[in-house]
Amino acid sequence: MTTIEHWVGGHTTAGRSARTAPVFDPATGEQQGEVRLATRDDVADAVGAADRAFEDWSQTSLARRAKVLFAFRELVNAHAEELAALIVAEHGKVFSDALGEVARGQEVIEFACGIPHLVKGEYSDQVSTGIDSFSFREPLGVVAGITPFNFPVMVPMWMHPVAIACGNTFVLKPSERDPSASNLVAELWQRAGLPDGVFNVVHGDKEAVDALLDDPRVSAVSFVGSTPIARYIHERGTANGKRVQALGGAKNHAIVLPDADIGFAAEHLSAAAFGSAGERCMAISAAVAVGGAGDAVVEAVSDLARAVRVGPGRDAASEMGPVVTRAAQERIESIVTAGEQQGAQVRVDGRGYVVPGHEGGFFVGPTVVDRVTSEMDVYREEIFGPVLSVVRADTVDEAIAFINANPYGNGTAIFTNSGEAARRFQRGVKVGMIGINVPVPVPMAFYSFGGWKDSLFGDKHVHGPEGVSFYTRAKVVTSRWPVPADASDATFHFRST
Ligand code: NAD
Repeated sequence: MTTIEHWVGGHTTAGRSARTAPVFDPATGEQQGEVRLATRDDVADAVGAADRAFEDWSQTSLARRAKVLFAFRELVNAHAEELAALIVAEHGKVFSDALGEVARGQEVIEFACGIPHLVKGEYSDQVSTGIDSFSFREPLGVVAGITPFNFPVMVPMWMHPVAIACGNTFVLKPSERDPSASNLVAELWQRAGLPDGVFNVVHGDKEAVDALLDDPRVSAVSFVGSTPIARYIHERGTANGKRVQALGGAKNHAIVLPDADIGFAAEHLSAAAFGSAGERCMAISAAVAVGGAGDAVVEAVSDLARAVRVGPGRDAASEMGPVVTRAAQERIESIVTAGEQQGAQVRVDGRGYVVPGHEGGFFVGPTVVDRVTSEMDVYREEIFGPVLSVVRADTVDEAIAFINANPYGNGTAIFTNSGEAARRFQRGVKVGMIGINVPVPVPMAFYSFGGWKDSLFGDKHVHGPEGVSFYTRAKVVTSRWPVPADASDATFHFRST
C-alpha cells in the first residue's frame, strides 16, 4: 500500500501529521493507498516555501516564464498516458476519458504559454500636455487552489498554469480521494525548470483548507467543488481579505424541441448524462422535453442507456466506469429510490448494478427517470451520478422559465433546428455556459469557464482572460518628464485640458 506525501519546496515530505485518509480503487472497492492529511503547520510550511519563492519568480522575465510553460507543456504531453493511468486508478473513469481530461488541461497550459501577450498593458500618449498614462499588471503573491475529485488533473490546470505564468507562486490542495496525479504534475513542473517552491502540493481535508483560508500570506484562493463548500470558502476567504473565485455545483438541463433530430439529441444526451458516470459539473442531468418530443426522447435515450458498456476504467471495452466511493454509490441509489417513491417512473434502473469479476466495485448503471417534477429529490439534488431525469414542458418559454427557477446556473443546452428558438434560449436563460446542439458546452481555454447563481461565488471565471485578470492586479501610471524651463508647472486645481 502506498502513502502519498506532500510536495513542498521541490521535494516530497511527510509533514507532521499522523492523520491519513484511505485511497480506493473504485473498480474493485479495495483500498490501494493512503494520503497524508496536512496539519496547519504543514500548510504553513508550504505557504512559506511559496512566499519565499515569490520574490524571485515574480521578477523573472516574461520570456523566461514562457519558456518554462512551453517545457511544461511538452512534459505533460509526453506523460499524458501516465497521468491518465493515475486518474483511472483513483477516480475510476475510463482511460480514453482520462486522456481527454489531460488534453483539456494541456490546452490551458498552451493558453498560458502566451503570457507575454496576455499581460500587455495600455498606453495613452499626451493625455494632458506633456503627460502620458499607462497601465500594467502585477502578480498577487501566493495563491491557493482547492480542487474536487472529479477532474484531478484538468481542474487544477484551470488554475496553476495561468497563476504561475502571471508570476504568482502556488499551493495546491487537491481532493484527498484521488491525490496522486498532483504529485506527478509537481515533478513535471520541476523538470520543466520551474524554481523550487513556485508550485507546492499539500494533501488534506478541512484542516488544511481552513489553514489556507486563514493564512495572511495567501493573497487569493481558487476553489472548485460543491456549492455548500464553495459558499463557505468564499465567505471565509473574503472575510480574511483575499480574492476568491469559488465554483460550485450544478444541475444542467438540456431542452429538446419537437423539431430536433431526436436520434442526434438522444445520442448526445446519453453521452452527456452517463459519460464519466455523470461525475462532471457540466453533465446533463435533466432533459426538458417540449411538446410532443417527450415519449420519443425517453424511448431513444433509454435504449442507449441499456447499451452502455459499464466496467473498470482500465478495460478498453468499458464506456463508463464506477463512481468514486461506496458513499457516492449509496447516495445516488437512495436518491433514485426517493424519486420513485415520490411518483417518478424509473425507465432504466442502474441500482444494484454488478460487473462480473468486480463485485466489490462502486458501480451504478445508467439510469433514466421519467415524469420528474421540480418538487422531487431526484430533481432538486445534484446527484453527481449516471442518472438522467426527464421533465416535460409545453413550450420553449416554459422550458426556459423552468431552467431559470433552478438555483444553479452552470451549463445548459438546447437541441433544435430553429435558429429563432435557439436565439430566444441563449438570450433568456440565466446560465453561464450555453450549448446549441452541443450538450457539454465547456469553453475552450482562451475563453473563461464559469457558471452563474449558486454555481459560482465571486465575480471572475477561471482561465481565459478572466483567469489572467483574477491572478493579477493593475497599476496605472501617470507620468511627466518636464523640460527644465517647465519645472514649476504645478497647479492647485484639476486641469481642463
Ligand atoms: P467537495 O466540495 O466535497 O470537495 C472539494 C474540495 O473541498 C476538496 O479539495 C475537499 O477536500 C474540500 N472540502 C471538502 N469538504 C470541506 C469542508 N467542510 N471544508 C473545507 N474544505 C472542504 O466536492 P467534490 O465531491 O470533491 O467534487 C464534486 C463537486 O464539485 C460537485 O458538486 C461538482 O458539481 C463540483 N464541481 C464543480 C465544477 C465547476 O466548474 N463548477 C467543476 C468540477 C466539479
